[in-house]
Amino acid sequence: MENIQMLLKQGAIGKPCEPIVKVGDKVKKGTLIATPTGLGANVHSSVYGVVEEITDDRIIIKPDDEQPEKFVKIKKGTNLEMIAEAGVIGQGGAGFPTAIKLNANLDKGYVLVNAAECEPGLEHNIRQIIGDPEGLVRGLKYLMEIAGADKGIIAIKKKNRTAIEALDAILKDEPSVERHLLPDIYPMGEERAVVRECLGIELEPDKLPSAANAVVVNSETVYSCLEAIENQKPLIDKNITVRGRIAGGNEAHVFENVPVGTSVASLIERAGGIEGEYGEIIFGGSFTGRAGTLDEPITKTTGAILVTVPFLDLHGAKTGLLVCACGGNLERMQDLLSKYNGTETKVCYCKQAQEQKNGTRKCERPGNCPGQVQNNLDFKKAGCEYVIMGNCSDCSNTVMASGPKMGLKVIHMTDHAMRAVGHALYRTLRVSKQADQDLNVVDNVEND
Ligand code: SF4
Repeated sequence: MENIQMLLKQGAIGKPCEPIVKVGDKVKKGTLIATPTGLGANVHSSVYGVVEEITDDRIIIKPDDEQPEKFVKIKKGTNLEMIAEAGVIGQGGAGFPTAIKLNANLDKGYVLVNAAECEPGLEHNIRQIIGDPEGLVRGLKYLMEIAGADKGIIAIKKKNRTAIEALDAILKDEPSVERHLLPDIYPMGEERAVVRECLGIELEPDKLPSAANAVVVNSETVYSCLEAIENQKPLIDKNITVRGRIAGGNEAHVFENVPVGTSVASLIERAGGIEGEYGEIIFGGSFTGRAGTLDEPITKTTGAILVTVPFLDLHGAKTGLLVCACGGNLERMQDLLSKYNGTETKVCYCKQAQEQKNGTRKCERPGNCPGQVQNNLDFKKAGCEYVIMGNCSDCSNTVMASGPKMGLKVIHMTDHAMRAVGHALYRTLRVSKQADQDLNVVDNVEND
């Protein structure tokens, strides 16, 4: 078994943890190995082994040959204390410590379960729900009690019919919990989009769900809280979707309970290995993920590993970048542009991508396009031949309504990943002809 690399910072949010073990120490599965120095959460060993090296950003553990199932249990406490002790952080996003989020003292409020699994091609969240729908509801009820909520809502996309049926069979006997169907567009997993869809409350970009008397928790995180409360289990493993240019086929390869710290290379090998040439390896989804390397470890927040097709060569053509708040930031768009071998000529932002005090951008109304004609005109005026856009489904549709007519060639930032996973490209939306038109369900179709 390869060495395990436990990063001291497991998500985008917070400060690195402080190691509390030293080189040569023997550790068990579940041994506490690092504790927070500020905003953060405990880190536990995901394997039995020996600490081989400690660097500025990680603890490297050489695993034993034998890896018993048994783990070191966290100490008992209140349910909230056990979630904190287990090191649970949001597993669908930036990794905010879940115990802090749940300490919300809501006034007859809501816990909203984000089961949107919004990034295209990912399946590990929905498969977990299909495998254990009762666990999701049980976990949600614990979280409602902790947060002071008297209502729980599971937000799930309408396309996930098997999971919905499995949940409905349980929810008919659960008056305090219901499920809400989300349209199949991107982004529906953004916290404020979940609040808007479930509660009809439109939050300003700088507002948290607490302003709507709610907390939003990713579905996988609910299961991790359940494990902490009922089994005293620390968060030491992760469910992952591996997908794309894989010799084993481009369908979703879902791995459950992968030890945190496992290398991406070994997971891809388990899926069948990389097939031929590839463009890049994306950690997370194709909209919000980043490019990574094969030797990097997975963390508590790694949702997916996508192996993409090679990039087209734009041969240095003048290219505009259209940046969305819910897609890649400017740095990521520039990273893609260099891989496409284009020349940065003009940068535009969706006008709803509002800059925040910390320099990040948040969408004013996620998924509801404000119009993109002016941006296309600006690209044209700057002499762009190509545009690489990172827009949501609705705005991609709007970009396509005017861009090609102006002679602009449009690429979406997810194209190389969508081609690899066999998903339609983000271009033009089409309202579904199915009986669910009342939900305005839309499918992405390739632009021809
Ligand atoms: S409206 Fe604009 S900023 Fe918001 S999600 Fe769509 S493209 Fe992004």
